[in-house]
Amino acid sequence: MSTVVGIDLGTTYSLAARTEDGRPVVVRDAAGAALVPSCISFHDDGTVLVGSAARARALSDPEHTVFSVKRLMGRTLADLKKEVELIPHQLVEREAADGRKVLHVRIGGREYTPEELSALILKEVRARAGNPTKAVITVPAYFDDSQRQATRDAGRIAGLDVLRIVNEPTAAALAYGLNKRSDGTIVVYDLGGGTFDCSVLKLTEGTFKVLSTNGDTFLGGDDFDRTLMHLAARETGTDLSARNPALLQHLRDAAERAKVALSESDTAELSVAPLNYARTVTRTEFEELIRPLVERSLDRCKAVLRDAHLTVAQVDEVVLVGGSTRVPFVRRRVAEFFGKTPHTGLNPDEVVALGAAVQADILTSGRRDLLLLDVVPLSLGVETLGGVVDKLVHRNSTVPARGGTRYTTAVDNQTAIVLNIYQGERELTKDCRFLGTFKLSGIPPMPAQFAQVDVTFLVNHDGILTVSAKELRSGAQAQVTVQPAHGLTPDEVDALVSASIEHAKDDFNARRLIELRNKAAGDTRAAEKALSASGHLLSDAERAAIATAESALRAAANDTDVTALQRAITDFAAATNPLATIVMNNVVQAALAGTDAGKLDANKLVPTANTSDEGTQ
Ligand code: ADP
Ligand code: MG
Repeated sequence: MSTVVGIDLGTTYSLAARTEDGRPVVVRDAAGAALVPSCISFHDDGTVLVGSAARARALSDPEHTVFSVKRLMGRTLADLKKEVELIPHQLVEREAADGRKVLHVRIGGREYTPEELSALILKEVRARAGNPTKAVITVPAYFDDSQRQATRDAGRIAGLDVLRIVNEPTAAALAYGLNKRSDGTIVVYDLGGGTFDCSVLKLTEGTFKVLSTNGDTFLGGDDFDRTLMHLAARETGTDLSARNPALLQHLRDAAERAKVALSESDTAELSVAPLNYARTVTRTEFEELIRPLVERSLDRCKAVLRDAHLTVAQVDEVVLVGGSTRVPFVRRRVAEFFGKTPHTGLNPDEVVALGAAVQADILTSGRRDLLLLDVVPLSLGVETLGGVVDKLVHRNSTVPARGGTRYTTAVDNQTAIVLNIYQGERELTKDCRFLGTFKLSGIPPMPAQFAQVDVTFLVNHDGILTVSAKELRSGAQAQVTVQPAHGLTPDEVDALVSASIEHAKDDFNARRLIELRNKAAGDTRAAEKALSASGHLLSDAERAAIATAESALRAAANDTDVTALQRAITDFAAATNPLATIVMNNVVQAALAGTDAGKLDANKLVPTANTSDEGTQ
């Protein structure tokens, strides 16, 4: 098994893929699921659940559940306007001693950085893949330096050596093997849960270059869900603005279920039990509801082509990415817009991870038949007099990119110069993003304009910037990897890495305990139900054995010894085995008789008799 994986760290779903026998395959859990909801829940006792278990808790305990962390990566409070309303947690900015701003999310009285939260998701994805040590992680093409850096830090906190940060559209094109064309123009249309991205890639002799990207960070499948939520609210006279998190979550789940069903069938049931509401929605009705949203995405496609100076006719291939492109209406409209059938052969929610696995394989196997080139998404420069940004590396330069210029001192006997580094396309610092500051000291006193300082920018394959400066007369020099003016320092990341290793065992045990307690509760409930239905068919000894095993199981579930609890669950399963057999027989008989009476009970009881999948990890 390869020790390297490709990871799609998504806003709504995350997953890993790896290559097996030269082909990329997604990593699935025992039940066959590949997607891990990018959702985390924190319990009062300090345990943390990630994925579906956390998402299930969003319903009952929204205050301790967090999602959409990707939106916060590498951002400051000032960057986050609409996001603040979307994320039902307090966002706070702490100022470090050196003036850096570090964003934190407050959940259940504790504060977490987005990097730590994303690391929890990455850890879960990593564990499912058998704890590989190396990974390629994908990010949207528009992610700037700080967002990429934050993603890389999250990987490190999760115990991963991040080999490369790759653009999602590039990964998708790789997954389709489009690099095997000699050249061409590829549009990647990515409609996920909460975001829409559209990118134009240029392929030249097997290398990709992102020509332009556009999108809408507030357009996705969640908005499709919202149209159905509003429909239900309208028809029941429910006020959605009255903050009722539990009801909202119910509505959201019902809406998503109906939406997903409509991708397969012409009608679907939209039912919301707490509102006493149920009705049938037709696909046509749904398409009318989402039409304006889909048209908005196509407007962005127009813009992305305009930026790349291309017409629709010049596009050779269209790739669909993101779970929301499973909606037939989306496929139809995209095909009409581009006048060609898009690639849909791979699962749209898996294609980015598959491409990341291909890239990971290329990096570790040393295959040189493929060369991947990405570009710098935003220009990088230095502040000069009057708050003007002097751009040293231009947007869309192919990485690795290098740029440089020569500066001099402004006043006599100046022994240090400070460089403020900015990212962005505008001319003035106030309109660009401040990335960090850099000081070259040790310049010997000289008259103004006499010193000569060469400043060099180097952007590596990950889009991460290193700045070096050298004063030519004295030879004084300095070099830094630019740390974003916010986010974590390498030391802070190191501290988090060791903290998470120290606590890994505790975290694991605590989590295992919760899972086993849930299982114990489920098993006893199922057994009690079966007992009241079929208990009379058991012998006194069998009933007594079940009662003994049950009280032992209850006691173990109230204790904190994981091994003892696991044993009690196994014992209980053995004791209830005769009961399970009876229920199974009933099902078989009922099935033979042409009815499926009792089937539900049997389904519930099966896990009780079969705990063999529980011991594996
Ligand atoms: P991310 O935003 O993390 O990139 P995905 O690409 O996995 O997420 O997309 C998630 C979205 O896709 C969700 O809104 C989900 O409801 C939607 N989705 C998944 N499967 C279907 C389907 N069969 N029909 C319609 N929408 C779907
Ligand atoms: Mg995605």
